[in-house]
Amino acid sequence: MPDSRTPILRLALPSPLRRLFDYAPPAGVSLSTLQPGARLRVPFGRREVVGVLVETADRTDVPPDKLKRATELLDRSSPLPAALFQLSLWTAQYYQHSLGDTLSWALPTLLRQGEPAEARQERYWHVSENASVEDARLARAPRQRETLKALLQHSHGVSHELLSKLQLNRDSLEQLRQKGLVYQQVRRSKPLERHGTWLAQPELPLNPEQRSATEAIRASFGDFSAFLLAGVTGSGKTEVYLQLIRETLEAGKQALVLIPEINLGPQTHERFARRFNARIALLHSNVNDRDRLDAWLAARDGEADIVIGTRSALFTPLKRPGIIIVDEEHDSSYKQQEGLRYHARDLAVVRARMENVPVLLGSATPSLESLHNAYAGRYALLRLTQRAGNAKPPRYLRLDIKSRPLDAGISMPLQQAMAQTLEAGQQVLVFLNRRGFAPTLLCHDCGWTSQCPRCDARMTLHQRSNELRCHHCGHAETRPHACPKCEHVDLRPVGAGTERAEERLETLFPNFPILRIDRDSTARKGAMDKLFATVNKGEPCVLVGTQMLAKGHHFPRVTLVAILDADGGLFSADFRASERMAQMIVQVAGRAGRAEEPGKVIIQTHLADHPLLVQLTEQGYFAFAEQALSERRAAGLPPFAHLALLRAEAHKPGQAEAFLQAACDEAEQLQAEYGFEGLELLGPVPAPMERRAGRYRAQLLMQGSARSTLHKLMGRWAPLLDQLPGSRTVRWSLDVDPIDLY
Ligand code: ADP
Ligand code: ZN
Ligand code: ZN
Repeated sequence: MPDSRTPILRLALPSPLRRLFDYAPPAGVSLSTLQPGARLRVPFGRREVVGVLVETADRTDVPPDKLKRATELLDRSSPLPAALFQLSLWTAQYYQHSLGDTLSWALPTLLRQGEPAEARQERYWHVSENASVEDARLARAPRQRETLKALLQHSHGVSHELLSKLQLNRDSLEQLRQKGLVYQQVRRSKPLERHGTWLAQPELPLNPEQRSATEAIRASFGDFSAFLLAGVTGSGKTEVYLQLIRETLEAGKQALVLIPEINLGPQTHERFARRFNARIALLHSNVNDRDRLDAWLAARDGEADIVIGTRSALFTPLKRPGIIIVDEEHDSSYKQQEGLRYHARDLAVVRARMENVPVLLGSATPSLESLHNAYAGRYALLRLTQRAGNAKPPRYLRLDIKSRPLDAGISMPLQQAMAQTLEAGQQVLVFLNRRGFAPTLLCHDCGWTSQCPRCDARMTLHQRSNELRCHHCGHAETRPHACPKCEHVDLRPVGAGTERAEERLETLFPNFPILRIDRDSTARKGAMDKLFATVNKGEPCVLVGTQMLAKGHHFPRVTLVAILDADGGLFSADFRASERMAQMIVQVAGRAGRAEEPGKVIIQTHLADHPLLVQLTEQGYFAFAEQALSERRAAGLPPFAHLALLRAEAHKPGQAEAFLQAACDEAEQLQAEYGFEGLELLGPVPAPMERRAGRYRAQLLMQGSARSTLHKLMGRWAPLLDQLPGSRTVRWSLDVDPIDLY
């Protein structure tokens, strides 16, 4: 039993509880070998978990007979460099999240599981000194002799991989080893050496706008500064990134590049690899755990020059950080929507400040938050207003579809425009942000609709798989033949999704390939590449798809973009919906006419005169954004106010509300006690989708005019939430700076 003089280890554990946990050091481990940041294996409840040492202390409130011993020390020094540890602390505090859980998001999976923080070990076979094929013991062992001969050709040893390529026999190797003629050596897989100059391909001469942007950012190398690079689609933002990265590499530093989508990973990686003789690490959720750890370690130890990755790559340690770039900074995938609800773009700015490097946020459609920061002077605004090369900006047409018949969502004038484009040998892109065949199945006799049994939502009809599927909870059932309510056989699909549009387009344009691109059609590995290969052939075709089409891809032969339904963004109760709609329209439009032919964008809408839509299509995204910002200011909404959302859900109705009401009472009490001003509590109210996946959901919104006051209150409030009655039966989460209010 540890006695009263044992030092106490205070650990962050993978638990949602916002506190540290005290342990005695593992038997036989002296205090001097315990470094903050080191991982330890400890008993926790009935499990063993891996914790991170935060500090040591002389005393603990845990009674001596309850104090447990850590079982094993896993690191002699912290695997996480100080800067990243500091970033994790900041993140945990800002997002009111447990430090232990925050560290679990920041560390690669294998480190969380206790794997050594070392790059993959490889075994190499070597020939022993003085060993010779003439050895008498091999006289009657031709296979062993051959094997030895082959090994002698490789003075650096033969790796596992090479063994099979050389078709070397394992038994022979083992026999040779027993004779002492060969031996095995364990060695770290060798980091790729770079050679010669950094550039593998000449750079493009920058146009004047690109040049002045590059110069402004270069001037802040070695120091923190935040830049918003607002460049229309195809204006050559990526070229600016590439040239800045080249200078970063020349200065002996590393670059971190965040991208929004896994799908864009290979494409970005390829473009960077073509440009540079550099060691590039690609990190995203499809990279297996071992490769991810190796890439993480390579970045940390300065053996990767460029790190490209999605959201979580923000937590990749860098030995010599030089620049952080966040591409498509407006993209909502930078906000994590579960567990630790961080925003990687916002944390990129925080990290850049901690590490004294410039951070560059790039987008054709900057978020209103970032624009506001730029207008307030916190970010330097750099604009690229022209498309690079010869490409012309697309022209917009608002097509009023009031009282026009729609055929699978497609109006007559649009059909005609599509036909013309295809006849002219060009490609068409049809955008519809709804997958499946139809969003509802309706009984024509009794009005029954395909309601999800677990959610307040309708199930989507998927014709190919003959299923009704809920896109909110994943519930799926076979498509009923007759109405489940009145048993009549007149069930009709209502509305159109991508499957239906595809089917209709196949009938309308039988001579042209129709390519559907959405989560369903690209689920199989390689399916996406195959579809893109067809598009890249350049022959006339129709691409029909969801937002997957809107992001980052280049379709030089697309000259007509059709947006089938823009109204959702104008009707929605979510105050961010119009911003998202505008970003989506401009991003989809940006896929068109990127080469010689100018592009045309047709937007079908019932609200052709809506001021935001008019402004966007006639004066461009900045005019729209300024209008939208002034509306937000008038309404006291972000970025002019700050929000935190407490969400709760439970199996029984009323439970979530009761928990939130108790939370609300606590907050009001704190407000009175400390005199926090300018804070408003809204709710608790049922969530817009009250029932989802069988749970009843409610929410409480906290709104503050000053961020600091909001955070002061939350700092006291969040720990109380863990103690509330119901905090264990109700599933709840606190979302700081939420981007979805449902
Ligand atoms: P963005 O990242 O803004 O969408 P890219 O950097 O991908 O733009 O550039 C769009 C296209 O223009 C690419 O084909 C790129 O090679 C080309 N481009 C970029 N900069 C220049 C330049 N200075 N001169 C000529 N072409 C350029
Ligand atoms: Zn019916
Ligand atoms: Zn459902």
